[in-house]
Amino acid sequence: MAGTFGNPEVVQEEVDILIIGGGMAACGAAYEIMPWIGAAKDAGVDITVKLVDKAAMDRSGAVAQGLSAINTYIGPNQDPADYARMVSNDLMGITRDDLAYDLGRNVDDSVHLFEEWGLPIWKTVNGERFDGATWPKEGGKLLKDGGDPVRSGKWQIMINGESYKWIVAEAAKKALGSDNIQERVFIVKLVNDANDKNRVAGAVGFSTREDKVYVYKFKACLLVAGGCVNIFRPRSVGEGQGRAWYPVWNAGSTYTMAAEAGAELTMMENRFVPARFKDGYGPVGAWFLLFKAQATNAYGEVYMTKNKELLNDYPPYGQAAVPASCLRNHLMLKEMKEGRGPIYMDTVTALAKLRETLSPREVKHLEAEAWEDFLDMCIGQCGIWVGENIEPEKKNSELMPTEPYLLGSHSGCCGIWASGPEDVGAPTTEEHPEADKIPAHLPQGWNWGYRSMTTVRGLFTAGDGVGASGHKFSSGSHTEGRMCAQSMVKFVMDNKDWVPTLDTSVESLVEEIYRPVRTFLEHKDYTTAIDVNPHYITPRMLQFRLQKIMDEYVAGVATYYTTNGHMLAVAEEKLGMLKEDAMKMRAKDLHELLRAWENYHRILTAEAHMKHIQFRQESRYPGFYYRMDHNYVDEENWHCFVNSVYDKETKTWNVFKRAHKDLVDKSK
Ligand code: FAD
Repeated sequence: MAGTFGNPEVVQEEVDILIIGGGMAACGAAYEIMPWIGAAKDAGVDITVKLVDKAAMDRSGAVAQGLSAINTYIGPNQDPADYARMVSNDLMGITRDDLAYDLGRNVDDSVHLFEEWGLPIWKTVNGERFDGATWPKEGGKLLKDGGDPVRSGKWQIMINGESYKWIVAEAAKKALGSDNIQERVFIVKLVNDANDKNRVAGAVGFSTREDKVYVYKFKACLLVAGGCVNIFRPRSVGEGQGRAWYPVWNAGSTYTMAAEAGAELTMMENRFVPARFKDGYGPVGAWFLLFKAQATNAYGEVYMTKNKELLNDYPPYGQAAVPASCLRNHLMLKEMKEGRGPIYMDTVTALAKLRETLSPREVKHLEAEAWEDFLDMCIGQCGIWVGENIEPEKKNSELMPTEPYLLGSHSGCCGIWASGPEDVGAPTTEEHPEADKIPAHLPQGWNWGYRSMTTVRGLFTAGDGVGASGHKFSSGSHTEGRMCAQSMVKFVMDNKDWVPTLDTSVESLVEEIYRPVRTFLEHKDYTTAIDVNPHYITPRMLQFRLQKIMDEYVAGVATYYTTNGHMLAVAEEKLGMLKEDAMKMRAKDLHELLRAWENYHRILTAEAHMKHIQFRQESRYPGFYYRMDHNYVDEENWHCFVNSVYDKETKTWNVFKRAHKDLVDKSK
């Protein structure tokens, strides 16, 4: 029976594997899973699978707008161990080498597939550079047919990537089959098993287009709903407010749903504050790495040189050939705080220098590439350049550190504690000095049987979901999704007779999901102005409150990314109240219902971030945030993971240390 806004239709489905999300990791899993399901069938086990995405896969997730580079491609002459070293240094020494190394040795295969599927990868042949538009061979594959991919950095290669997500999604959809894909369904929560609290048995969500609630039961689930944006007040205001660097539609669903299901989170204190072209958030990588531009203060001084000695405060992370990303911000922030802003990308000098060695034709090509860089992944930046009369060869552009984002796949490493590969070693219980603080039901080492399974049985994650292992980017997220496909099929085969039983009744779940709608319908006539009502708060207003708390007390742009124990205590109290008031959010239509639940996911993610910063009594990421009451990196006491487990019954966090161990020799 078709539902109404007040009484949604309830659709119940049972599958063996549910994939939540349709981004890079989900597409990797969708592409990879069918052959493994085929192998299971040959072994006598029938496995069903379904993918649900809150949006449309062709343009969903962080790659929606396209990208101009694939940031993780190892290539034939580089060592995955070097890649693991780079990941570790950039994230101030606290990463899981097992995860990074495993990714490094597998990631290239996904890049080769992208090319196979039609993604144009730039290439240099006999010293001449070709991109997708200029490649001479009909149907030629730029990587496979010899020549070198154009590298914008040691690990990055350039692409014509406006249609990157279309290409990757098309392969995923073709492999999985459209009957197994459901778009426009927002998953609100996971449901634990009635007989095993530490296991997932289902998920519940709603359609963003029709009055329908979906209740899924499953044996295994891949939770890959991206990172978290808009918990901090954004720099963009007014009509520009939807503009952020990471995509605003990634709302912390991964972290909140995993936490509520009881999964252990890791490094939630980590954040990413990218320095980007001001207001448009345009990418800077190609300008720094490919065009060799430098960033300066308002007086033309290169702050990376001028403030170089500040790096000595943070050995060894400051002294690496490429200092950690946060430390590069640290050097920039000194200029801003001491009044020598604005900060500029010196495009004028960079292009003039290139003109000294290149022919006019080559320079024209390069200028076209500079615009292409934006057009491929951040069209809004082109709008700003056009609107502000910026010709990069004549006028420099402002740079600005953005508001903070939480993510595990780009240059950040917050996320979920996930099982590593079997063949790369990890600390044992005996070696673990803090083992007694870890809840007894959780694993003690770094591998517990199924690659990428979280500490909750049957719950897997990848991409932005996997913590303590950043710098995976688009290709790495796809690769991790593929690894999960394989291990989820193995898990289902090993549990083929297990029957999921939801620990909550379907009626209660539907009631909970549609609460904002009922709140609205019950109280809407109490006042004459629909947005002003003592019985409810609009999702938009609630989001303002969240962003104000985080911005002012948890090291947002308002305080130049600084906080302290007292400010965090205030934030804790205010977030507690906000959590209570979130139960009073209204939804006047399905769009607002989406906004309400996105906000709920944001609040719990924000709380996890705050709790972890509060627990870690040092400033591990100077330039991303500073705890001014512990404004130093304390290697002796805090060279460790900070992990946490949320109790959804008591609504409290248990935050604790886990030992860190280098598996790759970092002295090299
Ligand atoms: P995503 O790809 O973001 O996918 C998340 C998916 O979950 C989406 O389909 C979303 O619709 C869905 N979803 C979210 N919540 C729910 C829910 N509650 N229910 C159902 N579905 C949900 N990588 C590079 O290689 N090179 C680059 O140059 C590069 N630049 C980048 C620039 C920007 C501005 C951004 C944002 C990212 C960039 N990346 C780059 C990184 C890359 O995009 C990410 O690493 C990658 O997309 C992460 O994959 P994921 O699957 O974890 O998340």
